[in-house]
Amino acid sequence: MPALFIGHGSPMNAIEDNMVTRAWREAAARIPRPQAILCVSAHWESRGVFACAAAKPKTIHDFYGFPQALFDVRYPAPGAPALARRIGEIAKSIQVHETEEWGLDHGAWSVLRVMYPEADIPTLQLSIDTSQPGAFHYALGRELGALRDEGVLLLGSGNIVHNLRTLDFRNPAPPPWVPRIDTAVRHAITEHRHDVLIDWHNLDRDVSLAVPTVEHYLPLLYVLGAQREEDRVGLFNEEYFSTISMTSVRVG
Ligand code: ZN
Repeated sequence: MPALFIGHGSPMNAIEDNMVTRAWREAAARIPRPQAILCVSAHWESRGVFACAAAKPKTIHDFYGFPQALFDVRYPAPGAPALARRIGEIAKSIQVHETEEWGLDHGAWSVLRVMYPEADIPTLQLSIDTSQPGAFHYALGRELGALRDEGVLLLGSGNIVHNLRTLDFRNPAPPPWVPRIDTAVRHAITEHRHDVLIDWHNLDRDVSLAVPTVEHYLPLLYVLGAQREEDRVGLFNEEYFSTISMTSVRVG
């Protein structure tokens, strides 16, 4: 099973049909049907790492100021309690705690609703301990990558460049540092220079604008950690909206 990093952008992508969401749908159509989906979303931050073991994960509407239609969305995929337990076994570098809390936040369901609209694949989320350095997330991604052999889709959901403070809704054209940094990341991905992505702080003089907080960037490191020697790497949705990049990655 390949692993995917999806640049999710606005929650509205859950209910819109556009170039970006069409590419999400195509990405799902091109891979085998997963036995289960393990989503590492930017929108579940924690101290310590948790796997959601809920049998029926609730749809979490973790945003404000969007149309009612978005709040009406439910994504009733079954949970994967057995997989939550299994993750606790295969994660050797750290202890993964099971929890009934959480469910599916919009980083997960806004993407999954497009990719798998039937909501019939067991799905769970893993939290991101944002107090930990890049190497921690990459190492955990490597361990979780073993699940690819069991038909589990590892889905990282975030954005490589993500700055809401500088986001200009009236002008979608990105400032120069957005494509520059996104391109630097893309080149490092295709050239397998994972070291510069694990410690991204020296990637560019403006990298702190692209990654002002780590939660949208870190899901990428789980997917790259799960990458194997023989895997092909594909990039898609190399699109920008102001200071967000939608760049998405498939490994395997
Ligand atoms: Zn987000």
